[in-house]
Amino acid sequence: VFIVFEGGEGAGKSTQIALLDRRLRAEDRDVVVTREPGATDIGARIRTMVLDAQSAASSATPLAPRAEALLYAADRAHHVSTVVRPALRRGEIVISDRYVDSSLAYQGAGRTLPVDEISWLSAWATGGLKPDLVVLLDIDPQIGLARVGRRGEADRLEQESIDFHERVRHGFLDLATAEPSRYLVLDATRDEQDLAGEIALRVAKLLPP
Ligand code: C5P
Repeated sequence: VFIVFEGGEGAGKSTQIALLDRRLRAEDRDVVVTREPGATDIGARIRTMVLDAQSAASSATPLAPRAEALLYAADRAHHVSTVVRPALRRGEIVISDRYVDSSLAYQGAGRTLPVDEISWLSAWATGGLKPDLVVLLDIDPQIGLARVGRRGEADRLEQESIDFHERVRHGFLDLATAEPSRYLVLDATRDEQDLAGEIALRVAKLLPP
C-alpha cells in the first residue's frame, strides 16, 4: 500500500506522517517512511542542488524551470526504483512525504510549465506507479509560510511570491477534485490529533485487518 502526503509549505506533513507511522507500527505493521526530494544519496544531492539554487544567498543563475522539473523527476525515478517499489514488493506500507502531485503543483501550476507535460514526465519517471491514497493537507499559504518562518527556511521560500504559493495550493486542490476517490483533503489548521484520527480511519480501509 502506497500512501502519499502532499501540501504546501508549513502544512504539517512531517507531523502527520510521524503520527501515522507510530500508529501503524503499534499495530505491528511494516512501514517505510520516505520523502521527495532527497530520500536517497543521489536524491539528497539533487535536493541540495535545487533548493540551494532557489535560495537568496545563491549567486548562481536561477535554475531554469525545465531543469528544475527534470531534477525532481530524476530524484523521483531513482527513489521509486530503489526505495518505493522494492518496499511495496516486500508487502510493506510506504508513506512518502511528497510525490508526483508536488511536481504538478509546484513545477506545473506554480512555475506554469504545462501540467500535461509534467504529468507524462512523471509517469515516465515512475513507470506509472500511482499512490493508493493521497492525503492533501490544505493550508492558506499566508498561514503555512508563517509556520515555516519559525523553522528558518524563510530565506528560500520568500524568493517566491504569495501568488506562486496560491497557484501551488490550487494546483493541489484541482488534482484532488479531478480524482476525489484517491484523495483525502483536510484543513491543515485543524487540531493535530483530530487530523491524525481521520487519516488513520481512512488508511485503515486500505489495509488488511
Ligand atoms: O516538503 P519539503 O520541505 O521537503 O520540500 C522542500 C521544498 O521543495 C518545498 O519547499 C518545495 O518548495 C520544493 N519542491 C518543489 N517541487 C517539488 C517538490 C518540492 O518545488 N516537486
